[in-house]
Amino acid sequence: MNIANVRILGGEPVDIRIDGGVIAEIGPGTAGTAGDVVDAQGAIVLPGLVDLHTHLREPGREDAETVQTGTQSAARGGYTAVHAMANTSPVADTAGVVEQVWRLGREFAHCDVHPVGAVTVGLEGRQLAELGAMADSAARVRVFSDDGKCVDDAVLMRRALEYVKAFDGVIAQHAQEPRLTSGAQMNEGVVSGRLGLTGWPAVAEEAIIARDCLLAAHVGSRLHVCHVSTAGSVEILRWAKSKGWNVTAEVTPHHLLLTDDLVEESPVGAYNPIYKVNPPLRTRADVEALRAALADGTIDVVATDHAPHPVEDKETEWSAAAMGMVGLETALSVVQEAMVETGLLDWAGVADRMSAAPARIGRLSGHGRPIEVGAPANLTLYDPSVRTKVDPAAFASKSRNTPYEGMTLPGRVVATFLRGRPTVLEGKLV
Ligand SMILES: [Zn+2]
Repeated sequence: MNIANVRILGGEPVDIRIDGGVIAEIGPGTAGTAGDVVDAQGAIVLPGLVDLHTHLREPGREDAETVQTGTQSAARGGYTAVHAMANTSPVADTAGVVEQVWRLGREFAHCDVHPVGAVTVGLEGRQLAELGAMADSAARVRVFSDDGKCVDDAVLMRRALEYVKAFDGVIAQHAQEPRLTSGAQMNEGVVSGRLGLTGWPAVAEEAIIARDCLLAAHVGSRLHVCHVSTAGSVEILRWAKSKGWNVTAEVTPHHLLLTDDLVEESPVGAYNPIYKVNPPLRTRADVEALRAALADGTIDVVATDHAPHPVEDKETEWSAAAMGMVGLETALSVVQEAMVETGLLDWAGVADRMSAAPARIGRLSGHGRPIEVGAPANLTLYDPSVRTKVDPAAFASKSRNTPYEGMTLPGRVVATFLRGRPTVLEGKLV
């Protein structure tokens, strides 16, 4: 299938000829007119998006999401590869479980699925999981995380960082000091004070990030920091990078757009658990710092932290509600709103933060490549000129817990191609 009239990273319109899953030719008129040609009508094309942080929930919570529905959701969002987090049931802490998830991804083939392996057995923070066996498995795991929980034991964290050096792995830390966040419900600040909800202090995130940067430097290993949410975390990362340490970081779309005062006042009322998320929504000053850090490269990646939950786990009182938001199908639009329309990133910058950088961190050689002859045809066609109201009923995800319901956001994923084969056309699953 060929693509006509498409603007690479927003440039001048060209055609792209695809042959054998690879980009064979780029230029005017190369798509031809016969056979399978998609007329992009001037849409932009980005390298297929790569998510470093997706919760697919299978095995164990198939009522919230499955590998099939989660990867359909990813394809609709323009993603060609996702990293599936390990906090499933059973936990992805053995070669057997990561291979199971990887095989399901291959079977449904809406996008590539790269399982993340747990750092510790059962995410319990007591003993290291079989990191080497997961790395050697068919799933070729390179990213390890206890996400949902923090590896708070400094000795275990040090050992994990040392262990993954043997196979060029990376530890992705969910930075949350557990005792400082015991019972925490939302960002600690003026709003939590007014609402009487237990605060989640910024220092609980920042203390772990500072410690882990020092540990990674000490053992000469790779650290990736999940969902950075505070201005102070940005300062620590900037310092660690200035030292030349091998530290990378991600920010979620929701932390680039939403703030903690939505818990007090929002279109869906006060105390609405749709805004309950880990780490919590922070202040306007934090949002501004995160945007600036993503723009200047201090934060390397936008990762969705797509966290599907069934209605009964979200539509309950605040303190009992599950933490998390779905994000795959709105990520690119939110990034356009927060970063492109504000002039902070151009489309080349978006391609780097949402495709090239996450592929590099996850060591995915077939993704995140520049759009050029010889590269695998993993492509996202996106029309940034439209604005649409977010309708969760249209999501491919099994869950609907989006904070953007009813909001008007820019842009629309027109088509997604996985090695030349469309997974989405005209905004619909193929
Ligand atoms: Zn997390």
